[in-house]
Amino acid sequence: MENKVSWTFKFLKFPKPVKSPRMAKYPILRHKKAGKRKKCSKLPKTPTLAKRKKYLWELCRAYTKLRDGKWCVSCKKRLASQCGHFLPKSACNIIYKYDEKNIGQQCSYCNLHLKGNYIEYRNHLIEVYGLTVVEEMERVYNLPLPFDFSPRVWVEKKIKWYTKKLKKIANFKSI
Ligand SMILES: [Zn+2]
Repeated sequence: MENKVSWTFKFLKFPKPVKSPRMAKYPILRHKKAGKRKKCSKLPKTPTLAKRKKYLWELCRAYTKLRDGKWCVSCKKRLASQCGHFLPKSACNIIYKYDEKNIGQQCSYCNLHLKGNYIEYRNHLIEVYGLTVVEEMERVYNLPLPFDFSPRVWVEKKIKWYTKKLKKIANFKSI
């Protein structure tokens, strides 16, 4: 009698406890998900395009301040406190938004009330760069960019260009 009982217990199988029966069917999927979560937490933080643009704009402001001096470029009467666009910022493509020819130091009256003081600003640009350059700017400022144009790469290049120029001007002014 004793022998019979021990034999039945020996071959009796109990099912193993499973935490989530739905995911137990897909062990590979569960593994992948865990791996992905780990990777996400370790990704390095890089500056976004918006932050880079903001930095580029700060460089533009500093550059025009050093280049144009303290007087407004369009009226030449009042002290400049802002950095204004010749061709409106909202209508330009990204290249002309940050172009050094298209921006200059302006007083708040010219920039805000007279909306850039277009005619006076144009006369100033013709004096500095010549009529052909200004006409070329007016022709191309709003053209669509090529399909393989990368704003990220372009912004990086422009940041480098402005920092180079700023260093040059700053050295020149300090001497
Ligand atoms: Zn002005």
